[in-house]
Amino acid sequence: MSEKIIVFDTTLRDGEQSPGASLNINEKLEIAKQLAILGVDVIEAGFPISSPGDFEAVKNVAKNVKGPIICGLARALEKDIDAAYNAVKGSGRPRIHVFLATSNIHMKYKLKKAEDEILKLAAWAVKYAKSRCGDIEFSPEDASRTERDFLHRVVEAVIAAGAATVNIPDTVGYSTPFEFASIIKGIKDNVPNIGKAVISVHCHNDLGLGVSNSLAAVLNGARQVECTINGLGERAGNASLEEIVMAIRTRTDIFKGISTGINTKELYKTSRLVSKLTGMPVQPNKAIIGSNAFAHEAGIHQDGVLKERITYEIMRPEDVGFESSNIVLGKHSGRHAFTERLRKLGFNLNKEQIDKAFGSFKAIADKKKEVFDEDLETIVDEEISKIPEKFHLLHFYIASGDQVKPTAKISLKFEAKEMDASSTGDGPVDACYKAIDKITGTKGSLLDYQIRSVTSGKDALGEVSVKIESKARIVSGRGASTDIIEASIKAYLSAVNKL
Ligand SMILES: [Zn+2]
Repeated sequence: MSEKIIVFDTTLRDGEQSPGASLNINEKLEIAKQLAILGVDVIEAGFPISSPGDFEAVKNVAKNVKGPIICGLARALEKDIDAAYNAVKGSGRPRIHVFLATSNIHMKYKLKKAEDEILKLAAWAVKYAKSRCGDIEFSPEDASRTERDFLHRVVEAVIAAGAATVNIPDTVGYSTPFEFASIIKGIKDNVPNIGKAVISVHCHNDLGLGVSNSLAAVLNGARQVECTINGLGERAGNASLEEIVMAIRTRTDIFKGISTGINTKELYKTSRLVSKLTGMPVQPNKAIIGSNAFAHEAGIHQDGVLKERITYEIMRPEDVGFESSNIVLGKHSGRHAFTERLRKLGFNLNKEQIDKAFGSFKAIADKKKEVFDEDLETIVDEEISKIPEKFHLLHFYIASGDQVKPTAKISLKFEAKEMDASSTGDGPVDACYKAIDKITGTKGSLLDYQIRSVTSGKDALGEVSVKIESKARIVSGRGASTDIIEASIKAYLSAVNKL
């Protein structure tokens, strides 16, 4: 009989705490919907007390995403638990996740409370949360550095108080696989009422051991893993969902009778979406979903794979959703072929969106001979995620070179008016951004600027993502074009439009 591992995704909570990865309400909802398609069991959508924006985002996910349990995080405080409940109650399957630190270091320096007080507070918080919501998870924060006997007593007390899931976090990514396995085994062997709860784990990656520690815990009885897409999260991040899922799936000889409910063919798409919306790129050599994960460079390897794939490949690229890049469309492709291809790629657009996307496609097909699936996805993503444009690019002109001062002239449309400005800068992109600032009155600083090519070839689409900070708000923007200056302008304008 197969035992199922509950996949608890915290991309929208812990992942969003990655420095610089903040998401707005719509972006969170878009990711949550994709997580539901991916087949995760629980979505931790945020930390509702932390800000009104996060409260609204969790509420929005709870109301609009069907299938997974929707969970909100709370400290062991009445106001936190109330906020978490009010945010998730619109879901058909709400959960509150309460946490309280139990290690000597945290109790002494952070909470300034003794063991007995912590024990009472943990039990009280779970009881109170349970009076509001049927499904309660409790985490003794910094569990891996908590004195073992005390950890067992806390776990016993919160289960008695009504917690159906006890999550054992390696909060600071300090543990190692053998040690972490023994912590989980110790809980199984020593907590009398452990049979009434699911053991969960939440491992950080500070020593690069997040996935290893999680898997060691699974082999010792943990049945829920907390993880994130692309391994996002505080500091060095969390255990990555795609690595855990594919390790369990690939090594059925080791993880005997254990499986997850993840539709692995959606992994690559989910990874791309999260990377795009958070502005956090995925390194090419990242396991499972990096662009080089299935690329064989050495001649001997290529030869082997051509003769028999399993010589050097332990998973098939298509199992994680990599599709070979087909040349699908060109300048002469019609609307029907275009719509058909989008449907195959999983997009469900209304007529107006198709019209706009088809217009962008024609413009790109004019500049670029072959339009690949990745190009189409970029065009459509731009169309779908576009927020109302206050400022719209009409024209731009740049002069640049090693003998001239880079200069840009920009024309934008604002409420049916055309507005122009010129500026010089350190380079053409800088000059464009300064000209845009003049027109829009934006006073901000550019925190991050990244450019990547969507496909290969000299005529590839360039995709630019930027982050700007203005008045203590950080917003991101993206833009794509075969001209990287135009892509840079579009990305900057989409961020400015958010401000
Ligand atoms: Zn964490």
